[in-house]
Amino acid sequence: GMPALPPPTLAPRRKTRQIKVGSVLVGGDAPVSVQSMTTTPTNDVNKTLQQIAELTAAGCDIVRVACPRQEDADALAEIAQHSQIPVIADIHFQPGYVFAAIEAGCAAVRVNPGNIRKFDDQVKEIAQAAKDHGTSLRIGVNAGSLDKRLLEKYGKATPEALVESAVWEASLFEEHDFHDFKISVKHNDPVVMVQAYEMLAERGDWPLHLGVTEAGPAFQGTIKSSVAFGALLSRGIGDTIRVSLSAPPVEEVKVGLQILQSLNLRERKLEIVSCPSCGRAQVDVYTLAEQVTAGLEGMEVPLRVAVMGCVVNGPGEAREADLGVASGNGKGQIFVKGEVIKTVPESAIVETLIEEAMRIAEKMETT
Ligand code: SF4
Repeated sequence: GMPALPPPTLAPRRKTRQIKVGSVLVGGDAPVSVQSMTTTPTNDVNKTLQQIAELTAAGCDIVRVACPRQEDADALAEIAQHSQIPVIADIHFQPGYVFAAIEAGCAAVRVNPGNIRKFDDQVKEIAQAAKDHGTSLRIGVNAGSLDKRLLEKYGKATPEALVESAVWEASLFEEHDFHDFKISVKHNDPVVMVQAYEMLAERGDWPLHLGVTEAGPAFQGTIKSSVAFGALLSRGIGDTIRVSLSAPPVEEVKVGLQILQSLNLRERKLEIVSCPSCGRAQVDVYTLAEQVTAGLEGMEVPLRVAVMGCVVNGPGEAREADLGVASGNGKGQIFVKGEVIKTVPESAIVETLIEEAMRIAEKMETT
């Protein structure tokens, strides 16, 4: 038959220059990648690699590790060598660690020019070392550590100030014919952040790393990041993302992937289409949806599973999905591809859905 068309997105991706972060391409036509950052002391190599393995399993594409002390810089080589995904060293204050990270074989280094005094003098050497080792960079401008000169000029970290800082730092590298970098202009206010990235996107074809800083605990941070990334990605802006949460980094990856899946920038995997429940519900929809989600966690095939509380919209939605249940009268009608395949007592709904999902997944994997 005809090959399936890729699902529609809200806008074509902005044309950016492509760079390499180790084996992961960023920018151009490369898929938007998801990043996170380890929370272990970087010099504890085993713990750090363990967390990187967890992030990799969750679908993280690129991982960043902080490098605040000499012992962390010393650990980078072993971490970079054993990590399954490219490692970015995150450097503030000490330019010396930038060279250490490059020599350690890190895929990339994040530099924050606002935090490196006399940064301008070091650019030539950094550019040369990065070129020699095939290392890319991120110029990470941050509202909280904006260049003093710009802070004085603009009074605070406005979008204009963030962009001026980024464009200036980019030009320093470009003067030395170094182009393998992406840029971020992070702010904790999604409105300022979105304006900054929009402005920056007008100024050059640099690949952009999206982030809302200090976005907060999981609930608030998820929403702030989703709204901000959604606004930008829906206009084609953004080549790699990091959701910052005051929560375990695996949660950041889950949220990041879900944002991309929502916009069809990633293939949707398991999707639970569950109703919010209402006065018509004849079953505890929250518990049912949670149990089905938990039972199907980790499914690697795109599967839409509908969990509906009653028979009003229930059968309709359940029919649109690959698999679904519409509950009523203490029973659940189980649908597969639009056909009622059986009716089971309420107590057997979860296990039946999981059984059927596994059966469908197996078929999808073998065809
Ligand atoms: Fe209410 Fe039924 Fe719709 Fe669920 S499917 S929200 S229970 S009408």
